[in-house]
This record gives sequence, C-alpha cells and structure tokens, in this order.
Amino acid sequence: MPCPYCQSKETKERKQKTKLGYKTFYCPGCERKYNERTGSPFNFLEYPTEIVFLVVLWRLRYKLSLRDLSEIFLERGFELTHQTVLNWEKQFAPLITRPFFSGGQP
Ligand SMILES: [Zn+2]
Repeated sequence: MPCPYCQSKETKERKQKTKLGYKTFYCPGCERKYNERTGSPFNFLEYPTEIVFLVVLWRLRYKLSLRDLSEIFLERGFELTHQTVLNWEKQFAPLITRPFFSGGQP
C-alpha cells in the first residue's frame, strides 16, 4: 500500500495491527507509520469501517430508525448511541451515494 504521506510505493507491512485489526505499514522514505485507514475519512473511528458502512447503508436503504439500528448492532456487540448514528449518516451518506469510494484517496 503506497504511503499516504509521500506516495512512496517502497513501504513495508508491519507485524503489528491496529486495535481494530487493520494492517499497519512503515515508510522508509519519510519514516512514518500508517495503517490501512490513514488518510481516509474513517481513520479515527472507534468502529470498523464495514460496521459504519452497514449502519449508514441500512439507515438509507431500509429507513431503519435510530432505535432499530442501535438494537440491531447492540446484538452484534456494537454499542451505538443515536447521536453516533446521526453523525455517521451526515458524514458518510454522501460517500455511499457516490459511485465508488476507494480507500485512501477521498
Ligand atoms: Zn512516506
């Protein structure tokens, strides 16, 4: 995966993963570390990207209520507040309705 800071392709995958299990990399060119989500709008989320996408997708596609979504995802072990769902909808609905989002480059 190219370095999101200097675009170098000479990067190394590290053994260590992020807390959520994302691959991490080291760039000898600029001596920085990064992970699969660095530079994407999902970088600082406490939840896996797939979960965020699912929540927003189900909200848009099936018009589920905030309470429905909280309950559904609580059963899967993710505690979401109504406000979190609303924030994600605001932030990520435009990405989902765009034709394709390629990780890395917004
Ligand atoms: Zn770099």
